[in-house]
Amino acid sequence: MAASLREAGDEEPITLVGAEPHPPYQRPPLSKAFLAGKADLASLAFRTEAFYAEQKIDLVLGEQVVRLAPGLATTHSGRSLPFDRLALTVGARPRRLGVPGADLDGVHYLRDLDDALRLRGRLGAARHVVVVGGGFIGLEAAAVARSAGKSVTVVEAADRLIPRSVAPVVSEFYRRAHQRRGSDVRLGVGVTALTGEHGQVRAVELSDGTRVPADLVLAGVGIVPRTELAEQLGLHCAGGIVVDEFARTSEPDVVAAGDCTVAPHPRTRDGLVRLESVQNAIGQAKVAAATLLGRREPYSAVPWFWSDQYDLKLQIAGLSGGHDEHVLRGDPEAEKFSVLYYRGGSLIAVDAVNSTADYLTVRKVLDRGGEISPEQARDNEVPLKRLVSPPA
Ligand SMILES: Cc1cc2nc3c(=O)[nH]c(=O)nc-3n(C[C@H](O)[C@H](O)[C@H](O)COP(=O)(O)OP(=O)(O)OC[C@H]3O[C@@H](n4cnc5c(N)ncnc54)[C@H](O)[C@@H]3O)c2cc1C
Repeated sequence: MAASLREAGDEEPITLVGAEPHPPYQRPPLSKAFLAGKADLASLAFRTEAFYAEQKIDLVLGEQVVRLAPGLATTHSGRSLPFDRLALTVGARPRRLGVPGADLDGVHYLRDLDDALRLRGRLGAARHVVVVGGGFIGLEAAAVARSAGKSVTVVEAADRLIPRSVAPVVSEFYRRAHQRRGSDVRLGVGVTALTGEHGQVRAVELSDGTRVPADLVLAGVGIVPRTELAEQLGLHCAGGIVVDEFARTSEPDVVAAGDCTVAPHPRTRDGLVRLESVQNAIGQAKVAAATLLGRREPYSAVPWFWSDQYDLKLQIAGLSGGHDEHVLRGDPEAEKFSVLYYRGGSLIAVDAVNSTADYLTVRKVLDRGGEISPEQARDNEVPLKRLVSPPA
């Protein structure tokens, strides 16, 4: 948001306050290359330190804002930060396990760099890793642990993996892919307790009565948007800070962006959706910056997302929720396929595994208009880009 403001020509003072001691960094590698030890700290940085100085962005790090009143933020150390413009980009915290034993040593979460450093530090010596939650972060970390030779069990309470983001056909693909590589995937079971010895976790007890040995547990059971500061200001919150298509909160002078928000569906404007992605955080921040500068640029970007697990690159464009038809192209058994989603005959999204060409084609169609009929998309022999009919 700070960078977007400067890019948009803003010259007013900007203070960027962060509770973490680190300058802003990218989170996606934390469950991928960084956790695997294949990316170093320096590669995570969003910008060079010089950037903030050059752009006259005052970085205040290691200070958590604990009180917000109109015109004044106060941090946990008692520092007062007066303001006349406010953008809330506070993200989310990981949902905690609420079962007995959840505070045992060896139970980890993965949201920030310090979490990743702790987890990475423990992974080397671990033998039995249990991942609670079969969403993207859990599965990415499971892939890293399994690739490092650990025994890995993934426990998911729903009856399929990644249930909130992909269709059953893709969930089933990931179940088989993880199992093929030696992980145990347990679906439809919850965790009832964690048990340990001398304060260290030793096993995970499941709702079907089974017990899985564990010396390291990673809970990836979703996030809770940070709404407490917004609530202090009396802003409307509903599972996130509610914003409109201009990233305005219920107090139109205050903008919010990223994981802490819920916003109208960027394409259909229906309902309120929370998009936990880098693309959304950056796209919404640009819109919020424009709003602060008095411009009205409605947010309508096509959502996109990626996930790397083993040698499987998943790329998603659009939102498949509400689809009434899907077309499978390619072969899940060959670990190269895509699924195109339709509503009322119109293309709305794609999930592509090791099929970047299909992903890029659908993203372009969703961005610029055009159509690919389900009947034509079924013809796997023809490259998808040759099946695009121009916008009407
Ligand atoms: C392990 C992991 C892997 C991911 N992988 C992918 C991926 O492959 N692709 C993808 O698109 N997305 C991925 N994501 C999601 C993506 O990183 C988030 O959507 C994105 O970081 C959201 O940005 P944000 O600025 O809204 O929130 P955050 O990145 O959470 O930033 C919010 C910041 O605000 C700070 N803060 C909060 N409250 C206060 C306060 N009161 N005072 C001061 N500072 C405060 C926090 O400490 C934090 O640094 C991943 C996330 C994680 C954790």
